Amino acid sequence: MPKKPFYSEGLYFSCIRCSACCRYESGYVFLSKTDVQGLVQACKMEYGHFAQVYCRWVSMGGGHERLSLKEKAGFDCIFWSDGCTVYRNRPLQCRTFPFWASVLSSQATWKMAQSGCPGMGQGEFHSGEEIEACLAEQQAEKLISRKNSGMRGV
Ligand code: SF4
Repeated sequence: MPKKPFYSEGLYFSCIRCSACCRYESGYVFLSKTDVQGLVQACKMEYGHFAQVYCRWVSMGGGHERLSLKEKAGFDCIFWSDGCTVYRNRPLQCRTFPFWASVLSSQATWKMAQSGCPGMGQGEFHSGEEIEACLAEQQAEKLISRKNSGMRGV
């Protein structure tokens, strides 16, 4: 019988909105079509203008690129200004942290992420089923990518 994942009995997490994961360090916020639709609506912009102002293409190797949000100087998220300015429409990647496959791959990876996030290990209880549903949602959501040039999915 396969071993149950360490989070199967549930985990505690409540974001305390400290913004540590939105600022100071370089990172990528990859976007799905649904994410972009929500952000375009929040920004009241046409897609082309939105992409130019807020997005960048990130090389993933093998001639593929993924669409990500830009960062400001100092690595703050482009939408960070005394807090998240698009919180209601924030991308799936932001909404599902810390229940990401990379963070949940082992207790060690969870602990490592916990060292940078004071919300992990406290607050609201999330059942194993809830966490699995969160992972499934991420797997089902196709991220916007392109090969060479020409956008797909938008
Ligand atoms: S580091 Fe954790 S607690 Fe702080 S904003 Fe990010 S998710 Fe919330």
